[in-house]
Order: sequence, then structure tokens, then C-alpha cells
Amino acid sequence: MIQYKSTRNNIKLCSFLDVILKGIANDGGLFVPEKIPKFSLRQLRLLSKKSYQERAIFIFNLFEPDLSENTIRKIVNTAYSTNFDTTLIAPSIHLKDNQYVLELWHGPTSAFKDMALQIMPLLFSEAVKEKNKKLVNKGEKPIHYLILVATSGDTGKAALEGFKDRKGVSIIVFYPYGHVSRLQELQMITQNGLNVEVCAIHGDFDAVQSLVKDIFNDSKFNKKLFNQYQVLLSSANSINWGRLIPQIIYHINAYIDLVNKQVITLGSQIDIAIPTGNFGNTLAAYYAKKMGLPIRKFICASNENNVLTEFLQTGIYNIKKRKLVQTPSPSMDILIASNIERLLYTISNDPKKVSFWINQLKIERKFEVDNLTKGILKKEFYADWVSNKDCLLNIKKLYDETKYLMDPHTSVAQAIVERYQKQKSISSPVIICSTAHWAKFAKDVCRALTKSINDDMLDEFEILKRIKRITKASIPKNILELKRKAIKHRKKYNPNTKLIGDKIINWLKNTQ
Ligand SMILES: *Cc1c(COP(=O)(O)O)cnc(C)c1O
Repeated sequence: MIQYKSTRNNIKLCSFLDVILKGIANDGGLFVPEKIPKFSLRQLRLLSKKSYQERAIFIFNLFEPDLSENTIRKIVNTAYSTNFDTTLIAPSIHLKDNQYVLELWHGPTSAFKDMALQIMPLLFSEAVKEKNKKLVNKGEKPIHYLILVATSGDTGKAALEGFKDRKGVSIIVFYPYGHVSRLQELQMITQNGLNVEVCAIHGDFDAVQSLVKDIFNDSKFNKKLFNQYQVLLSSANSINWGRLIPQIIYHINAYIDLVNKQVITLGSQIDIAIPTGNFGNTLAAYYAKKMGLPIRKFICASNENNVLTEFLQTGIYNIKKRKLVQTPSPSMDILIASNIERLLYTISNDPKKVSFWINQLKIERKFEVDNLTKGILKKEFYADWVSNKDCLLNIKKLYDETKYLMDPHTSVAQAIVERYQKQKSISSPVIICSTAHWAKFAKDVCRALTKSINDDMLDEFEILKRIKRITKASIPKNILELKRKAIKHRKKYNPNTKLIGDKIINWLKNTQ
């Protein structure tokens, strides 16, 4: 069994299931496996005839989790099934020349977050079951977990869809009222499931995030939840290790697909380009390389919030003078990319150094890595960013050139790939991760295609129709159906910790 340790302190080991429930280590660090398992090219070859699910099971087992092979099989087969709109789950499409698009949005919410959040809740539920078995054997009461999510849009829906009707766990999603797109709002407020609740909060995303943080940190409230209701709070955010293994899997899967298509021969190198936010996707690709996947460069693409471009180019992470700017690719609008901590640990293998750097970021809002680490960052990564304007121009340019319609996040990555290949006269194949279906960002896509849209002119379903008229591109069923779905969650609240605390307790009373 591979155990997990914290990036900041190497002493205490936890099992895979413990790590899923805990989310974050007691010392504030992130969990990393004590060793990264490896696979051989021969093993990759054996996977080439297998389905996405069989490949996923194989890779999961390499991590030797404290789950039976049978359970892993059951969980993987449930997570990646008819809830995806293609049996390939994450198909790789030829775009142009040596560029391939890895479409990560065929899940139930048309967002790349589904790749991890369709399976992570199943693992979570299994972990709760095992934990409660032990508690009951000791004569103690079983625990119920309550997941709290603050969302600025996409994560909320993907988490709701993943956790709905899972045993041993409930979920409440908070979103900033008026600050998410109408489509995103409809996706959330029409959510079904007996263990789900959605609350609109008056305020912006920061207000929602601090509200949820305050609830997590309110020890009196947490004690009350536990003592009176046997409820523990938990989160489902992208630093949970349970979201990372599923992401390692699709990178490996895409490589095997390109071998099968005879784009590459087994063992030859590819580049992977990723529209990056919290660095989970890129980190997963980095782990895939450590495990044996022949990746040459990680092309880390950012929008105008280009803190990662600067960091990977210079080794200096500096947020002193930075403010978040709004972009057409909101899921990449980030100042602190939490998963960088795991990258630093994996490169340096030194929890003292990692603690020092992360602490400096907190206090000085800046840190600089050592020369050895700088060298590795330079060698492994190509980082660059595009402006808001160029992101939208690129959607139109690529559509005119190929008839492929990209969402703004994917466009950021594809624009950087063009630049990179020109600059370096590179001709080896590149996989471009496509992280959202264009329909989820219809307004900006329409603006990119037609240049003639007023912000308040059309509602989003009209815009979808308009894009469809122009491009004949298809729109996912889950999005079209929103127009007719019944609204189940209408409550709006002020961001008041006491008020929300009371609501949570009321809701628990009514649902347990
Ligand atoms: C979450 C998200 C990203 C960023 O992914 P990270 O793993 O956080 O880097 C990019 N694009 C979309 C559409 C996303 O939802």
C-alpha cells in the first residue's frame, strides 16, 4: 500500500481513504504519495486494446489504495459510464497539423471538472463507509459528512452532480447571486437529489468564499454539529488528492489513443498544453511523466492573470502588486495556484524548503525558488499567456481555419501552442487539453464569432441558437434541457455566518 505524507512535514503517514476524507494535512500542507508508482512501455502497450475504464482501473491499482480491486472496478465503472456522452469518455480529436484536442467535457455538466468529480464522491462515500464500520465496531456512532462548496461557477454544478444521492455525505453549494452566468445558475438551481442544497448569497465571490471559510473555522459551530448531529464538515476542492488520480488517467489515456491512431510510436515524446488555473491539471500531467509517460514539455497557458507564466519563467512567485482581472476564461483567474505546492515538493523532495517558500508567499506575498528548482522548471515547462482580446480573436481564427469551435479556456492554450511551435520550429505532436464545452461560455464565443452583440441584448438560450445557426455546432443536451427544468432552489441569503449556520442545522434536521 502506498501511503501519503504532507508536503510540509514528512513524519505522519495516512492511507488513501484517510487522505480523501481529510482533504488537507493537519500541518496545512497537501498530501503527496510517499512514492510515485511507475509503469513500463510494455504495460502501456497492453493497455492499448483496453477501454477507458480498464485503463483507469490499471492506473488506480498502481497507486495501491486501501480499496479492494473489486471496489475500484465498481467505482470506476460507475463513474465513467452512460453519464458521459461518448463511450470514449475523453476523446482526442485531430485539430490541424500536429495538434490534437483532448476533449475533457463530455461529462454530465459539460465541464472538465466532471472528469474528477464524477469519481471523487464515490471514493469519498466508500471512505465514509469504511470509517463508520470501524467506529461502529468500537461502539461509537457513525459520522455523516457535509461538504461545503463556494463556487464562482463551474465547480459548484460538477460537485452537486457528483455528490447527489451518495451515501454518508451531503453537500451545500454557495454561489454569489448575480455574479455567475444565467446558464451556470440554472445548472445549479435545478439540481435534483435528496442530499443537496444550493444557496445564493448576496455579494461577490470573495464574500461567498470568506463566508464558507468562516463556517469551517467556527469551532463552536463545528463542535455543535459533531456533538448533536455527528456531522463533520469537509470540502471537495481541487487540492483533494482524490481529484488528482483521475486527472493523471486521462493524460495517459490520450497518449495511448495517439499511439493507436499511429500519430506517434510507443515511447516517442509528445507535448501537453494546458489552460491552467489552480495547477491541478498540469500537476497531474507532471505526475504522469514521473510515472513513465513520454512527455517532453508541459505548455502552461495563462490568461491576463499570468502569475504562473512569471513563476515558471523566472522561479519567482510574486503576487505583491497583482489584482485579479476579469477575463473570458474565468476558471483560470487565479493568484495563488494551490497545487504549485505539490510541484515544489515533487521537485525538491524537501518539506522544509516547501514550508519556507509557502510561508513566504503568505507573509511577503512573494517567494523565489533555488537555482536547482529554477533549472528544472525551465527544462520541463514552457509558460506563456494571452490577452483577453487575443483569446477571443483566436476562437474566430481557428474556427475559420478548421471549423472547430473552442471555448475561451481552450483558446488560451491553443493560442500559446501556435506561438510555441512557431518560435521553436517544433514539429512533434501536441495534446491540447480542452477544459469546457463552448456552450458554457456562449456570450464570449458569440462575441468572438460575430463582434456584434450587446451585453443585455439576448438571453443565453438565444445566443446559443444564434451560434448554432452560424456554426452548426451541436449543444449538449444537459444545457438545452435547462430551459424546461423545474427550479428547486430559490433561497437567497446575506453572507452572515450565524444565519447560515442556523440554516445548515435546520436543513440537516430535515434531511437526516
Ligand atoms: C478548473 C478549470 C481550469 C483550470 O484547471 P486547474 O486544474 O485548476 O489548473 C481550466 N479550465 C476550465 C474550464 C476549468 O473549469
